[in-house]
Amino acid sequence: MCENSKREWSIKDFEIGKPLGKGKFGRVYVAREIKSKYVIALKVIFKEQLEKYNILHQLRREMEIQISLKHPNILRLYGWFYDDERVFLILEYAHNGELYKELRKRGHFSEKQAAKYILSLTKALAYCHEKHVIHRDIKPENLLLDHEGRLKIADFGWSVQSKSKRQTMCGTLDYLAPEMVENRGHDYAIDNWTIGILCYEFLYGVTPFEAESQNDTFQRIRNVDLNFPPTPLVSRNAKHLICRLLEKESSKRLSLQKIMEHPWIKENATDMTVGE
Ligand code: AMP
Repeated sequence: MCENSKREWSIKDFEIGKPLGKGKFGRVYVAREIKSKYVIALKVIFKEQLEKYNILHQLRREMEIQISLKHPNILRLYGWFYDDERVFLILEYAHNGELYKELRKRGHFSEKQAAKYILSLTKALAYCHEKHVIHRDIKPENLLLDHEGRLKIADFGWSVQSKSKRQTMCGTLDYLAPEMVENRGHDYAIDNWTIGILCYEFLYGVTPFEAESQNDTFQRIRNVDLNFPPTPLVSRNAKHLICRLLEKESSKRLSLQKIMEHPWIKENATDMTVGE
């Protein structure tokens, strides 16, 4: 893919293939840049929608963030262009789609698989934090898999879309840290909390604070009402890592560096970023 930022793209540069999915503001298609034959995902967003929800500025800011992030576990945004009605985002193509679908298909992941994903996620977030970017909206729907099964963080929050998804979905609070649900100030450590939630969900197939109502989930998060079901069998080290991340006090949570050094990660994770 030509990454010359001065290059002006237009729809004529691409052959459009099958739709990959539909979000609130538009659709995503697999596409190929005609000249290089490079396969990408083209996200088409209708300006009318952006204006309606007043998020044009937010989208621009998020695009500027994502275009600057270059990490093997972060979905690349190569560029964007627009016409009178639409904004087009030229995205890295994640051939294996949503991690969420994979998780639902399998029920839960093995410890090795889960540790591999947690390590990739931690490395990507460490990179973001170094660049002073907090993701704040990590959840399985925002994680994609490439053709080699490598995890990619997608969707840098331009997601009023994903916020509105959250409000209409059951269990919307599931990934939020106590300081978020309590509306206290928050910092980088909210992403560390979310790694704990995802680690639990990868291993058990459900989020730890799931409840009948949003209010009950809210209470469970506030009280860190954490328990581990007897099945599937999960190792003591994995539970230790989860407990060290789901600490109510954000300063007590394991740092990203310490996650990478944790015995469960060391024992189980194959490093997907080696040699890249
Ligand atoms: P979104 O509008 O970002 O929610 O995307 C809608 C759906 O399109 C997602 O749920 C994914 O299944 C799919 N999708 C989005 N971006 C990509 C991508 N870069 N590669 C492959 N599939 C994608």
